This record gives sequence, structure tokens and C-alpha cells, in this order.
Amino acid sequence: MGKVIVKKLKIKTCHGVNDFEKVKPQLFEFSAEVGCDFYAAAREDDISLTVSYAKVSKLITAVATGQVYDLIETLACRCAEAILDAFPQAVSARVRVDKPHAPVKAKFSSMAAEVFLKRERVFLSLGSSLGDKKAYLDFAVKRLSSVHGITLKKVSSYIETPPYGGVAGNTFLNACAEIETYLPPHALLCELQKIEQEGERTRELRWGDRTLDIDIIFYGRQIICDDVLTVPHADYANRAFVLAPLAQIAPSFICPLSGKTVAAMYGELCGD
Ligand code: AMP
Repeated sequence: MGKVIVKKLKIKTCHGVNDFEKVKPQLFEFSAEVGCDFYAAAREDDISLTVSYAKVSKLITAVATGQVYDLIETLACRCAEAILDAFPQAVSARVRVDKPHAPVKAKFSSMAAEVFLKRERVFLSLGSSLGDKKAYLDFAVKRLSSVHGITLKKVSSYIETPPYGGVAGNTFLNACAEIETYLPPHALLCELQKIEQEGERTRELRWGDRTLDIDIIFYGRQIICDDVLTVPHADYANRAFVLAPLAQIAPSFICPLSGKTVAAMYGELCGD
């Protein structure tokens, strides 16, 4: 793995929370580190196989001059997103925006914001037990692929499963999807919840019947446990309705907690 680096690209443009900053250009300095495997490019000495720093500079310039933002945080995120959108072979983008003449009454060399976005392989569980269940799952899959920053990679077959947890009464239709995304975990959850809402999701009883439920099962190899998110999903290992479709699309994915493959975990749950 390597990095292609652009350091302190100087652009005079207008950004800031103050009205005068929105019309009077000032100096911004943009730095980017794009994580990518350029070994093949180096072997062949072929620019088409790597991330071109000239193209990265162009993308940054287009973001910096295309729209006026209040925050350098926004600028940094838009640049990182533009880089990852333009280079599918890039695995990460770190972008720093320096504002050396920020209107702050103090002595300083620069004010800056830096963001790091990384593409991750994410597995989602989808379920529906009310209304036209297949239509709700189809809707979720279609909407997922329309979210900026998400690429849909694989979808399992839809399987009918009995209700789980003793609250829901209806048969469920379940599936798993593999996506690639640079949305950070909590931002991804927000997008999934928007899709659930659009799927006319109502939250009455925990584990009750629902039109559409989308859970994050794995977010790359990350382990997350906070007030909002538990990843890997807290109960997935006990749920055949998750492991069966997951074993279809990712049998050899290794759970970062158990160290076991999905296929092995599904086998254990089935008593094999
Ligand atoms: P439910 O819709 O019943 O699956 O519950 C959704 C709630 O569970 C959300 O508000 C999340 O904050 C929380 N949650 C915790 N971990 C996860 C996860 N891995 N995927 C989705 N939701 C999660």
C-alpha cells in the first residue's frame, strides 16, 4: 500500500462564516494523502494504474472554486469525497484545509481542518414483515445504491423466515447486502434510517413487525460499541435469518470478534 500526496496546493477563493469572506477571496492551502496500491503502476511505470496527483489537484480546485462553504470542515470532506468518487482504486483520502489568514484576532500560522475517509466493506441485514415485503426489500436495495458514497456490491436471495424474539407475529422476508462505502459508521446509520423512514417504517414494539428494518452487521473489521451503534451487530451470531443470507454472499468473511468465518458461524448455528 502507498500514498499519493499533494501538499499545500494554494488556491485563492471565498469560504467562511462571515459575509465578507463569501465575496472576498483569501488564501487556502489544500493537502491530500490518497491511500492506494500503486505497486502495479510502478512495475509498469504506467500513470493510468495509479492516482494522478494532477487529477487530484484538479478535483480539489473544482471543489474549492465551485461553491462557497461556511466551513473548512465541509471543504475538506467534499474534497475527500470527490477524490474517492473519482478513483475507485483509492482506499482512503486524508484531506487537510489550511486557512492561514482566517479572520481571528490572534497570532497563529494557520487554522486548519483535516478529515480521513476510508472505503470499507460493509454488510447489512434487511428485513420486512408487513405489507408487500418483497417490494420493501426491493425499495431498500434500490435506494441503497442511490446514496452518494455507497456502492452496492452484492445482494443475497430473499428468504422467508419465522418471526424472531417473541414479539413479531408475521413471517419475515430477509436478505443481506454487501456495500462499499466511505460514509463513517454513524453517517451510514443515518442514511439507513432515512431509507427505513421512506419505507414507511413505524417504530412501535422492539422486535415487532415492521415494513422495513436495516441493520449494520459488519463495518469492515471495525468494532464499535457506543450509545448508538454496536458493530458487529450484537445478536447477529444467533440469527439464522442473518447468517443464512450472509453465508450466500460472504461465506469467507471473518468476524472481527469471533475470528470465525461466516460459513463456520452459520454451520455452528445449524448444529453442523
Ligand atoms: P432496530 O430498528 O429495532 O433494529 O433498532 C435500531 C436501533 O438500534 C438504532 O436506533 C440504532 O441506534 C441501534 N443499533 C445499534 N447497533 C446497530 C446496528 N449494528 N445496526 C443498526 N442499528 C443499530
